[in-house]
Amino acid sequence: SHKASLMKPLKKSAKLANVCYDIRGELLQTANRMEAEGQRIIKLNIGNPEPFGLLPPDEIVQDVAMNLQNASGYSDSKGIFSARKAILQYYQAKGLLSATDVNDVYIGNGVSELIVMTLQALLDDGDEVLIPMPDYPLWTASANLAGGRAVHYRCVEEGNWHPDLADIESKITDKTKAIVIINPNNPTGALYSKEILEQIADLAVKHGLVIMADEIYDRILYDDAVHTPMCTITDKTLVLTFNGLSKSHRIAGYRSGWVMLSGKKDHAGDFIEGLTMLASMRLCANVPAQYAIQTAMGGYQSMQELTAPTGRLYKQREMAVSRLNAIKGISCTKPQGAFYCFAKIDLDVYPIQNDMKFMMDLLIQEKVLMVQGTGFNWDKPNHFRVVFLPNLIDLEDAMDRLDRFFANKRKE
Ligand code: PLP
Repeated sequence: SHKASLMKPLKKSAKLANVCYDIRGELLQTANRMEAEGQRIIKLNIGNPEPFGLLPPDEIVQDVAMNLQNASGYSDSKGIFSARKAILQYYQAKGLLSATDVNDVYIGNGVSELIVMTLQALLDDGDEVLIPMPDYPLWTASANLAGGRAVHYRCVEEGNWHPDLADIESKITDKTKAIVIINPNNPTGALYSKEILEQIADLAVKHGLVIMADEIYDRILYDDAVHTPMCTITDKTLVLTFNGLSKSHRIAGYRSGWVMLSGKKDHAGDFIEGLTMLASMRLCANVPAQYAIQTAMGGYQSMQELTAPTGRLYKQREMAVSRLNAIKGISCTKPQGAFYCFAKIDLDVYPIQNDMKFMMDLLIQEKVLMVQGTGFNWDKPNHFRVVFLPNLIDLEDAMDRLDRFFANKRKE
């Protein structure tokens, strides 16, 4: 103990100064502490389907189980051939524009690992990446961790949360390397039209930007909506398409995702070499989970059952949207994809200064856990995200508590 007292405090590295990930931050730690004390918390904070009884299709679990015997060794750094081929064919069937092959597909431990890897490979200190606001905050955190700078472009709530093209263009500088598109979007649930994607692609081509398209919710769509992959919109710049099985096949814990490189590549050899080196440094992605991919890419799509008007996710969305909009001073647009609502709080009704503290009050008073809007890099304390994965009974319970919480706040 004498020696320990002489040790210098162990500080986190300076690289983490601008790195922030509130979805699993202070609120969750408080919720975990409350649970340890025996309290029951309704957790509407994380997009993890399985704990809500949204189980993976049997065929997916069986594929992994049947192949466990062959999956004990490392695989190729980019992943097993059959999985990468199936990924490629999935996009070819949707109209992939450029000549792309299995070597352009990299499998990772979820999309998360590949977001970190691609930004590490791409960014020099001070390089800028255009990222939507609000965003899935891993994008901002990873750009900053890589020494780059996340520059946020506005998505417009009154315009179905579509990106503001003029805002994007005004934020492009000599340092801008890439633009991130999250479609369908987390946290807003917005789905982008072909026209808006074409306009974004035109901007990217004009300014020589890499397009990073996070399409992990591409198979979670409501109301017969159709998703257009970015790799079918342009081949005139480098397009990185990110996707995985965490959401569509409810196997977030297996860690199975991929990135596919398409479009213009002749200028990008050095970057691709760097990415390939980073892929080999982490040896390979979890091999058993790679065996789920081939089956998951084609054939029967179980998610459609959940998002059809008779399905669980559809009904839960309807309830979440109508209950939220029924609260005085709260409004939210109807999500067209994914399983989140990004609800707006009227600051004239609820004069909030610190939205994290506001969500902490909700947690402590009503035992409901949700993430504040600024956790998604939104610039005002006037939003929060609701995950509508719980079944109707639990969701109703959560909405009753939310109702009561806001009613009490109005009396304060
Ligand atoms: N991208 C988006 C938009 C997400 O919402 C998530 C998870 O919530 C991820 C990526 C990461 O997914 P995973 O690492 O499980 O593939």
